Amino acid sequence: MNDLSKAPYYYQSLDFQKLWLDYPPGKDYLGSAFLLSADEIHDMQNSRFLHQMQRAWQIPFYQRLWKTKGIEANDIRSLDDLTLLPSFSVHDLRDSIERNPPWGDLINIDPNSDQPMPMVLQTSGGTTGLPRPMIYSPIDREIMNINTGRRLYMQGVRPFDVIQVMLSLGLSNGGFLVREGIWKYSGAIPVMTGSGAQTPTNRQIEIMRAWKSKHLIGFPAYIRKVGQVIQDQLGMDPKELKIKSLILHLGVDDRASLEELWGAKVYDTYGTNECGSLSAECEYQNGSHIFEDSFFLEILNSDTEQPVAHGEKGVVYQTTLFKHLAPLIRFNSNDISAFATGECPCGSKHKRLNRIFGRSDNMIKLRGTNVFPEAIGSIIGLNKLCNGEFICIVENQGANHEEKMTVEFEVLDEKLDKKEIELNMANQLKESLGVKIQTIAKNLGDLDHLTGLSSQSKIRRLIDKRN
Ligand SMILES: [Zn+2]
Repeated sequence: MNDLSKAPYYYQSLDFQKLWLDYPPGKDYLGSAFLLSADEIHDMQNSRFLHQMQRAWQIPFYQRLWKTKGIEANDIRSLDDLTLLPSFSVHDLRDSIERNPPWGDLINIDPNSDQPMPMVLQTSGGTTGLPRPMIYSPIDREIMNINTGRRLYMQGVRPFDVIQVMLSLGLSNGGFLVREGIWKYSGAIPVMTGSGAQTPTNRQIEIMRAWKSKHLIGFPAYIRKVGQVIQDQLGMDPKELKIKSLILHLGVDDRASLEELWGAKVYDTYGTNECGSLSAECEYQNGSHIFEDSFFLEILNSDTEQPVAHGEKGVVYQTTLFKHLAPLIRFNSNDISAFATGECPCGSKHKRLNRIFGRSDNMIKLRGTNVFPEAIGSIIGLNKLCNGEFICIVENQGANHEEKMTVEFEVLDEKLDKKEIELNMANQLKESLGVKIQTIAKNLGDLDHLTGLSSQSKIRRLIDKRN
């Protein structure tokens, strides 16, 4: 029996000194694990992976997944045997939650028998249906916080800097996780203005000016919008605010135009609800360094599950090396990326990710061509007459239900000739993507109710009306 008469204390739940030796934060990390040779990294990953496997074998989700494939515990003797294990995806997680409500059986905590521990729950930023929950034990959360702190340090955040965080504060993990990382491992001051629904854009700007925010964290589309409001509605140059860096999940958004708008460096990162930050760019902006002491990432062809050639695009499969409540072993993230090629001038040998090109479950096949809404966004973002806002609508048409895509986008000035812009945009899309896409130009703000730009932290780019 467990003892529920006494609440667990967070600061007694971990051996922090050991944790910081195993997973050095910030500057200590850059002088140690970050500089290991590829062989040393592999050895570290191997021993952490074997511990992670011991834990995973205690979890009903993996027992079921692996035993149906006839896999026994001693079949997996090293990280090199990882490919013997089947992958799983968000569909398996949803199935697990349906069978074992409310959390599913990957999150392995039993209130009837386990000793109590401090926990937090956050979710994915789902745009339809109930978001996907994840619960974190102290070690899970603290290593995620350390990785956030490393990312901030690598991207130039220093003590007393004011960081304005424009990510929503609620169920989705982004905002709270960033706050914890800033607070515990950077010495900077988090100013949690949240999304546009929590703090209207004009108030965001007033705070930015009054409290001298030095770094902005948020979604690229929203940060672009804030810059445009400063420029077009307030008649100011965003550069006057002297923002030093924009700390983003850049994806395929256009870095150069954001840097130009704000006069600030843009740094990319890759993170998920389950894992927190998995990788971060250093000051050289030369691909995102994977925190390889915490994660082992594969990039595979999702049809064959074979590795793609180094530098080629594929789907990121995640294996965690530290998680207690819900380790991930070969989780198909659906995120499409590629390993960055060449070396980074910073000298780290950790593998790097190129940008995230899109999500494979967002991919639309139009007359045999794969199209990602994210790629469409990057083309629209380059057009000087547009503000970068857009939505893709895909539907069936005609007797043989052929798939048709329409892209609606906003133009900066409503007096412009929309017919001409639509035609030019259709030609640009055809040229870049190789398929014909209908285009409709809209006025500023017209798409807000479809994309959720001003009200949500996860912005919608695709409306799927196919039957
Ligand atoms: Zn680097």
